[in-house]
Amino acid sequence: MTSPVWHPFTQHGLGAPIPKVVRTEGAALHTADGRRVVDAISSWWVTTHGHSHPRIMAAIAEQAATMDQIIFAGWTHEPAEQLARDLVAIMPPELTHVFYSDSGSTAVEVALKMALGYWANIGAPRHRILMLEHSYHGDTIGTMSVGARGVFNRPYAPLLFDVGTVPFPKPGHEQATLDALETLCGGADPAAAFIVEPLVLGAGGMKMYPPALLAEMRSICARNGTLFIADEVMTGWGRTGTLLACEQAGIVPDILCLSKGLTGGAVPLAVTMATRAIFNAHLSNDRARMFFHSSSYTANPIACAAAVANLAIWRDEPVRARIADLGTRQQAKLDRIAAHPLVRTPRRLGTIAAFEIALARDTEGYLSAIGPALMAYAGTRDVLLRPLGDTVYVMPPYCIDDADLDAVYGAVASFLERDLS
Ligand SMILES: *Cc1c(COP(=O)(O)O)cnc(C)c1O
Repeated sequence: MTSPVWHPFTQHGLGAPIPKVVRTEGAALHTADGRRVVDAISSWWVTTHGHSHPRIMAAIAEQAATMDQIIFAGWTHEPAEQLARDLVAIMPPELTHVFYSDSGSTAVEVALKMALGYWANIGAPRHRILMLEHSYHGDTIGTMSVGARGVFNRPYAPLLFDVGTVPFPKPGHEQATLDALETLCGGADPAAAFIVEPLVLGAGGMKMYPPALLAEMRSICARNGTLFIADEVMTGWGRTGTLLACEQAGIVPDILCLSKGLTGGAVPLAVTMATRAIFNAHLSNDRARMFFHSSSYTANPIACAAAVANLAIWRDEPVRARIADLGTRQQAKLDRIAAHPLVRTPRRLGTIAAFEIALARDTEGYLSAIGPALMAYAGTRDVLLRPLGDTVYVMPPYCIDDADLDAVYGAVASFLERDLS
């Protein structure tokens, strides 16, 4: 019998096999048919330290023994209180408040609503949101609106709200980006907020830009009063080599979105952190000015306990050294593969390595045939890769050992040696 499950981002009509995973550990997925598959993409960027981290799994089990979901409007519980204190302690001090939700998309929706609520509540309404070309912030209608338009959202295009788009800072064209941002921020209809993925545009193709540019974009927003929203859902939790990518530019956003690695990738949870000014704009004895947002599972205690354990790992274990070491190893292997004539624009930031495969007779971008071909080939070698069209990237859990990392690059290298014409 065929499965009734409808999978995300999966064309069931192509009939590709759907492996069943029965157990996870470290950098590996173990399948029902007995294979050990190396997870080279951290299960879509969520797994940081490694799968089934014993401290995180123990924290989940312990919390599950005492409390399930409770209402979070006007009620609280210790895992949420503890996590908020720990987040405020480890994140930039300007981010004084923590709002819970359950996914990267909801963290971004909350950020947009906070920004618009801020302007409404201070009595100077602004409505326009600015985004960077090629951005991705989620798959809900609001987050699609502030993301790149393409084949992913064409059927919904008429429903997406209008935004101002700043061109991606291609090398040599940085000034055009800054000029466009300056123009869009100010003028007669000043922008409410600029939302940006700091240093790496993930789903847009692992497009990277330098910290100095991020810093300049931040100061243009500050000069114009435009709120700066950093979507660190992918880049946060060490992915780019530092706890936050913003750290490398020496900047602090007005609003920060975190999810994916917040629980080490074990269970769903998200936070939107905000400055005191944004919180205070909603603070009043007038109930019409409260922040009108909630998800049923806001601050789920079990998810919060997992995140508390993740933060303890960041405090107690040499996570930063592990990340630096993985970065060095990624660079060495990337350098070797970069010598191949089909490999274009090899690049790395922190634990993320990426490049394009250039074939003369292929469609560029997300619908390139090369991505699915590599994904299928890597599968036969027990490696999980999922290129973004012609963009190949390796983003493993921080615990991956050299043998597994070699297996990943070995699969890519032998794919490149096949007859790809
Ligand atoms: C994955 C991602 C999101 C969406 O997160 P979900 O948990 O899938 O909703 C938002 N922003 C960025 C930058 C992401 O990489």
